[in-house]
Amino acid sequence: MNCLFCKIVEGSIPSTAVYQDELCYAFADIHPQAPVHVLIVPRQHMDSMASAGKDHGALLGHLLWAAAEIARAKGLARGYRAVLNTGPDGGQTVDHLHVHLLGGRSLSWPPG
Ligand code: AMP
Ligand code: ZN
Repeated sequence: MNCLFCKIVEGSIPSTAVYQDELCYAFADIHPQAPVHVLIVPRQHMDSMASAGKDHGALLGHLLWAAAEIARAKGLARGYRAVLNTGPDGGQTVDHLHVHLLGGRSLSWPPG
């Protein structure tokens, strides 16, 4: 499968690792939108949240837990945002599910 984030997970495309465990890999976004911008992806390929079934609940929860753990490690005590862009209208550009963790500045709402 020609998937950018699968290649990052397997190491054939370089990335800056932030956190990893048996279920997920987290790395620095190449075009950071905030002082902290980390992508957390499942090791196993999954296109997006749109293909999530009930069986994926534990994995999706794990990704959010990992985001919280990274936020604590990065000292984001003032808060942060975890985002899952999904599909064309959601602004998803890489079709391997990922959580954006953004923090280190005040983030506006609503998003564009
Ligand atoms: P999305 O638009 O939600 O699908 O997010 C894809 C993200 O992947 C964007 O924030 C990109 O900056 C990021 N990205 C694309 N290529 C790379 C790469 N080689 N290493 C790290 N982040 C990347
Ligand atoms: Zn993939």
